[in-house]
Amino acid sequence: MPGGCARFTYVHMTAPLIDPFARAITYLRVSVTDRCDFRCVYCMSENMTFLPKKELLTLEELDKMCSTFVGLGVEKLRITGGEPLVRREIMTFFQSMTRHLDSGALKELTLTTNGSQLERFADALYAAGVRRVNVSLDTLDDKKFADVTRWGRLAQVLKGIDAAQRAGLRIKINAVALKGFNEEELPRITEWCAERDMDLTWIEVMPMGDIGNEDRLDQYWSLEDVRSTYEQHYTVTDLAERSGGPARYVRLEESDQKIGFITPLSHNFCESCNRVRLTCTGELYMCLGQEDMADLRKPLRDHPGDPRALEEAIRAAISLKPKGHDFDYSRQRADGQMSRHMSHTGG
Ligand code: SAM
Ligand code: SF4
Repeated sequence: MPGGCARFTYVHMTAPLIDPFARAITYLRVSVTDRCDFRCVYCMSENMTFLPKKELLTLEELDKMCSTFVGLGVEKLRITGGEPLVRREIMTFFQSMTRHLDSGALKELTLTTNGSQLERFADALYAAGVRRVNVSLDTLDDKKFADVTRWGRLAQVLKGIDAAQRAGLRIKINAVALKGFNEEELPRITEWCAERDMDLTWIEVMPMGDIGNEDRLDQYWSLEDVRSTYEQHYTVTDLAERSGGPARYVRLEESDQKIGFITPLSHNFCESCNRVRLTCTGELYMCLGQEDMADLRKPLRDHPGDPRALEEAIRAAISLKPKGHDFDYSRQRADGQMSRHMSHTGG
């Protein structure tokens, strides 16, 4: 959007967002596109149909949405997708969020990326106030990387990580634990993260969306087993630390490394949930693992100059936030399967 996003100046503090289970909602994850330059086997099928452009929130609408949430007490924004850095002019949006960092209302502006475009954007992200970036990377093997992402090239992602570190961005690697795929690589990935001073978090594969011929249960490598694998190589100490999110942490004593585990399936993390997710079409999902959502695009488009309708719709949605998700693989079925893809809701 040439010339920058128009400013939604009506940012004001009213009562913060508290859900029916007394959880304060201070964290918004925003999917800015459903498109991606990769086709990871656990995330998308090879032939995806993407949304028509008119369905997407414009950059200006994304600014209004996020600014309204910040006005309602959201302190952390994570930009995701799809691949957020393939959205045209996305830096304009990051730059427009800088004003909320400058005012102190927003404590953190961050993103989750596959890393393919980081070489181009690392400096601009830093200049916009981003300090930490999550890069998704499941293997350090060229061939396996090409297999799991279908369209990706490892060298490009590694260059992106180099550029991001040079720019001063702190990197966390997120790896999806995939049975028979990256089990053997666990020590190598762990050491590589230690050498580069990057945190590492393992994620259990979740039943999100149709992924063609791939079978979820075939992919599922429980993080209980990942932990056991660590125990074969390291002394593993549990850490009490919580980030308000789903991750649980351990320290590897020998390398003094902190490793995260995101275990929606083998453990339930909902009681401390502080987040909601906005899709690129303006749907607000109160829980990643439930189908209920609220359409925020309609109040936004119907009342472009007046944020109150949007604010009321957000409050009504938060009042419906469920207690937790129903994912369950324990009966050897992918129970709680969601029809939408992770790239739609934003991982
Ligand atoms: N394209 C960006 C990326 O890959 O980092 C951001 C969007 S992606 C949907 C966000 C995260 O969701 C990635 O770390 C990815 O590995 C994870 N993810 C995607 N599908 C998943 C699934 N079915 N189960 C668990 N994690 C998944
Ligand atoms: Fe794209 Fe991220 Fe999904 Fe991979 S996980 S297909 S990079 S959105």
